[in-house]
Parts: sequence; C-alpha cells; structure tokens
Amino acid sequence: MSNERTELSSLGEFGLIEHLTKNIELQNASTVLGVGDDAAVIDHFGKQTVITTDLLLEGVHFDLMYTPLKHLGYKSVIVNLSDVYAMNATPTQVIMSIGISNRFGLEALDEFYEGVYAACNKYGVDLVGGDTTSSQKGFIISVTAVGEVTPDTFVKRSTAQKGDLLCVSGDLGGAYIGLLFLEREKKIFLESPGVQPDLEGESYVIGRMLKPEARKDIIEFFASQEVIPTAMIDISDGLSSEILHLCNQSNLGCVLYEEKIPVAEETKKAAFKFEIDPTACALSGGEDYELLFTVSQADYEKLILNEKISVVGYMTDAEEGATILTKGGNKHAITAQGWVHLSK
Ligand code: ADP
Ligand code: MG
Repeated sequence: MSNERTELSSLGEFGLIEHLTKNIELQNASTVLGVGDDAAVIDHFGKQTVITTDLLLEGVHFDLMYTPLKHLGYKSVIVNLSDVYAMNATPTQVIMSIGISNRFGLEALDEFYEGVYAACNKYGVDLVGGDTTSSQKGFIISVTAVGEVTPDTFVKRSTAQKGDLLCVSGDLGGAYIGLLFLEREKKIFLESPGVQPDLEGESYVIGRMLKPEARKDIIEFFASQEVIPTAMIDISDGLSSEILHLCNQSNLGCVLYEEKIPVAEETKKAAFKFEIDPTACALSGGEDYELLFTVSQADYEKLILNEKISVVGYMTDAEEGATILTKGGNKHAITAQGWVHLSK
C-alpha cells in the first residue's frame, strides 16, 4: 500500500461510488443496465440464472496483517465465481457490497478494487452494483454472483448415481499449508517485529491461499466434450467435508483412494516442514476452490483427456458408507476431520 492517504470523507458516499465504478466497461450482452440506478437489469435470453452470495468478515475469513488488499479483492470475487462454476454455469455479473472500517483511506480501497476488477476481467464478468457503508469494526465484504446456464444443464449435489466416478480438478491441500506459513510468520512478527518474514520458496502454497483461481477451464472442458457431471460441488472446506455433502445429498456412499488424491510436490514438501500429512491437508484443509464432481463411467475416456482432472474413487450404495482406502490398504470412514484417524 502506498503511504498516501486520501480521506474518504473528502469524496462523500456518492463521490466514492463514482470513483470506484467509473471505469467499468460492460462485457456481457446479458448486462442490460449496470451501476448507477436503483437496480441492475440482467436478461439471460432464454438461459437459466444461478445466483450465489458470500459474506467475508475481517478477523473471521481474512487477516489484513498478511493479506494484501488487492489479493483480497481478487479472492472475494473468485470464491463466488467458484460457486457458480460448481453449478456448471457461467458467471456473468457480480455485486460487491462493502462495510469500510475507519482505518481505510481511498488508496486502500483502490487497491482492493484493483483486485476486484482484475478478477472480473479475467473471468469476463461485469460488476453491476453494490452498496457502500461504514463499519464500526473491521472490513466487511459481501459479494453476490450471477451466472447463466443452458436450461436444465445445471448440476446439483444430490444427483450422483451408484457406480459413477468420483473426480477432482487441480490439486488439493496447498492453500491450507500456505495459511500455516502465513500464520507462523505473523506470530514471529508479533513476537519480534524486526524479523523479516521467511516465506522463501513457498510461493506456490502461499499463492494457493492468497490468490486462488476458479475452475472456469473445467466447465469449458465439460462443454467441449459434451459431458455433464451427475453431481458437483466446489471444494472450499476440504475434500472430506465436500465428499460427505455429495454422498449425503445423493444418498450414496463412496470409496476414495488416498493414493489418487492429487497433491502438488510443493505442497508435499511444505507439509513435510510442518510435519503434517499432506493427505490430511487435502482432506481437511479447505480454501482450494477446486471442483469435486461425479460422472458416469461412460464418460471416462473423455475425462482422461484432461490432465487437470483426477479420478479419485467411485460412488457406492449408501450402506457401504463414505470410505477412504488408505495407501496402507485399510478402509476408514470419511469424517469431517478425515485426517484425525489417518495421522496416527
Ligand atoms: P441506492 O441508494 O439506490 O441503494 P446507492 O447510492 O447505494 O444506491 O448506489 C448507487 C449505485 O452504485 C447503485 O447502482 C449501486 O448498485 C452501486 N454501488 C454502490 N456501492 C457500490 C460498490 N461498493 N461497488 C460497486 N457498485 C456500487
Ligand atoms: Mg444503497
């Protein structure tokens, strides 16, 4: 952040909103009317609309001690786009509401919006509105995302079928390890403020935490291959928790192969430094924003064309439960804290 500080009071509420939104160039034909009226107008021309929202609170969801505002703006959009992609839909508009703490000057908000607009441009979505208030305590961010989907091709969590393949995109566990590094350096800094942070060599996992991406590419791949997953969810709370959602809502069980869970080399090395099991990070870590989905076995040949997709297991009857087959050949029930019994 630069050292300049422009008081927000010098602009006033309307001046501030005008400042934050003046450069918007609309990217979607579906955006009939954007910022500047009582509401935005969106026309999806015969498509179906999905809509999702997330609330992010300072001290609960993010820590400004180690989160650059630009990254925070970026991530606050990404986490919502990830929910839209998890419906097999394409995000088209976002609405951004902020409660601004009195610590913030205009320069700080500009940094935040730089990240917001970077995400909007990268993913081709329009910022079409929001609300701006002051906050007594901490920075508050509420983002709503709107997306479109060809009628009846949206994908729910509850429609997986017995025998379907269980798949994940990308790699897991990195964001959690990134968070451990950031928390460790924060603690050291608070105890001895002179010490420079030692995050050397950990850019991959720290990037996974601070600057996640949403899996637009996977949704586009499905469309190009004419694959519609039978069920899907995004991985925000750790693989175990999301698998349990899929199994419970589809009324099925599953077998997850520990050895098939994709974990990046960087994540494995970093987990080793903290003496924790990389599988534990993937199962319970969270914030990876990858996709977990099921597909019919008939789609297997198409799926393996994409190296970003890993088949990690298959769906079973509910009676068999949600289970993990460990590298050692043992079968355990998957629990929301899946690693507790694995790490013994
Ligand atoms: P209203 O009083 O009708 O709610 P506002 O004065 O709050 O309108 O907002 C004016 C316009 O600016 C609206 O289009 C609103 O959606 C948009 N807007 C307000 N705050 C933000 C923000 N933080 N980011 C983006 N757009 C915003
Ligand atoms: Mg308003």
